[in-house]
Amino acid sequence: MYLKRLEIQGFKSFADKTVIKFESGITGVVGPNGSGKSNISDSIRWVLGEQSIKSLRGNKMEDVIFSGASGRNALGFAEVTMVLDNSGGIFPIEYEELAVTRRMFRSGESEYYINRNSCRLRDIRELFMDTGIGKDGYSIIGQGRIDDILSSKSEDRRKIFEEAAGIVKYKSRKEESERKLQRTRDNLVRIDDIISELE
Ligand code: ATP
Repeated sequence: MYLKRLEIQGFKSFADKTVIKFESGITGVVGPNGSGKSNISDSIRWVLGEQSIKSLRGNKMEDVIFSGASGRNALGFAEVTMVLDNSGGIFPIEYEELAVTRRMFRSGESEYYINRNSCRLRDIRELFMDTGIGKDGYSIIGQGRIDDILSSKSEDRRKIFEEAAGIVKYKSRKEESERKLQRTRDNLVRIDDIISELE
């Protein structure tokens, strides 16, 4: 599994549709200061569902949409598609490529797609759980992240190892089941109250 292609349109400095193809192996992106190199890694975190504009180096979510430049008007939406090779079948889908898309309008509303089929952000999160690729996954190491990891609390460091060990999915399902159990217990208490009122 590897990142094959990024299609960026209207995201930050990428006004026109830009397709970046990656071969397997190492790819370096070079360019002058402010030319948009970091915007590429921001686009990857964003398409994976990043909700924190601070970690995308902006002030408000709208800041990820192209805001205009000399001779170019601002755009109404940003769209990023990340295409991963799935020939090894790591993702439980029947296709050899996995394409994840996020589109966001100035209203703040985001749409998500998996292989062009509309989906929820939650579906994307579940798909990437335990792969190390999620927005907080260890495969995206931004500037200063190594320092963060080394200086963070041991519980925070533990999350990285849990993802690498592949147990995040099970932990998250367990938490969801515990929440459902609690809701059911609350409902039972309410039903008992109603029954005792009626008796
Ligand atoms: P450095 O080498 O200094 O780290 P870089 O190549 O990583 O720079 P980025 O930080 O990716 O550059 O890009 C910064 C550029 O993106 C700036 O020129 C900024 O004006 C532009 N930019 C950021 N957000 C938007 C936006 N919403 N609309 C238009 N341009 C934007």
